[in-house]
Amino acid sequence: LTQLFRPLDMLGMVYRTIRQGLIDMAEMFRLLDTDVEVSDRPNAPALIIRKPSVIFDNVVFGYEKDRTILHGLSFEVPAGKAHAVVGPSGAGKSTLARLLFRFYDPQEGRILIDGQDIRNVTQASLRAAIGVVPQDSVLFNDTIGYNIGYGRDDATQPDIEAAAQGAALMGLIGRLPKGFETEVGERGLKLSGGEKQRVAIARTLVKNPPILLLDEATSALDTRTEQDILATLHRVAEHRTSISIAHRLSTIADADKILVLNEGRLAESGSHAELLRFGGLYAEMWTRQAAEAEAMREAAE
Ligand code: ADP
Ligand code: MG
Repeated sequence: LTQLFRPLDMLGMVYRTIRQGLIDMAEMFRLLDTDVEVSDRPNAPALIIRKPSVIFDNVVFGYEKDRTILHGLSFEVPAGKAHAVVGPSGAGKSTLARLLFRFYDPQEGRILIDGQDIRNVTQASLRAAIGVVPQDSVLFNDTIGYNIGYGRDDATQPDIEAAAQGAALMGLIGRLPKGFETEVGERGLKLSGGEKQRVAIARTLVKNPPILLLDEATSALDTRTEQDILATLHRVAEHRTSISIAHRLSTIADADKILVLNEGRLAESGSHAELLRFGGLYAEMWTRQAAEAEAMREAAE
């Protein structure tokens, strides 16, 4: 019987998505795709977080049977700490993020949040606990207030205003003809990449999650905007547990700890200074990126 109801559930979700005016194909496919990969255990309890620690315990995962992507990955992010994950393209960084959000289940090992295996709790409670600021955020064709409040079903106008404040959006909103009621998105006011990122940050603030997951959150921005957004993100990450995935090492050099992933394995870990002293993969990536940045500056002159 559950076999029969699952597709119906899925349709219900898609229907609600359309009804709310969130007709975004990518989002719809993501929902569909996600829902077939994992499901809640019968009578699964909600995730209860007192101390939002994150543990990957010997996680083995591959998208396809014969190709393992993560080869027994273990690490711990203690509650309240900011850790960064870096590594070459294809190392498995985004995969790690997808597993934490439980888009997929590991084939071996476990992922624990505050001691609870994320496979044993409801997906709704898991996803409510993790705020994601994605690489490019999608704005819905609705008001900017709606777009901010979308992070939580019962968001009030004061919640939305506080979040806009926290994401440094009040300047922009103050200049808009209809303030929070201004239509944005494809058919409304077009926002810049940096402004869209701020809306995504505000959405996360409305949700007020104990855990933050930032997947190359600032990669689409110019350096100046990136610095501004980073400052905002640092404030948002205070008093939370955060995992930042980054290409540009300059953005995460001050993390409590940096995990260097290579070919699905933890190659190195430590602070920026420790990893530079170690003289391994991280040091090599740092030197290369510094040289690239220098070349860019020279080309710009
Ligand atoms: P990173 O974020 O570190 O660049 P990813 O986690 O995105 O790396 O990818 C790790 C590996 O998994 C890559 O070899 C990539 O091709 C593969 N991969 C990523 N997503 C999928 C998918 N949906 N199906 C099959 N393979 C995938
Ligand atoms: Mg990636």
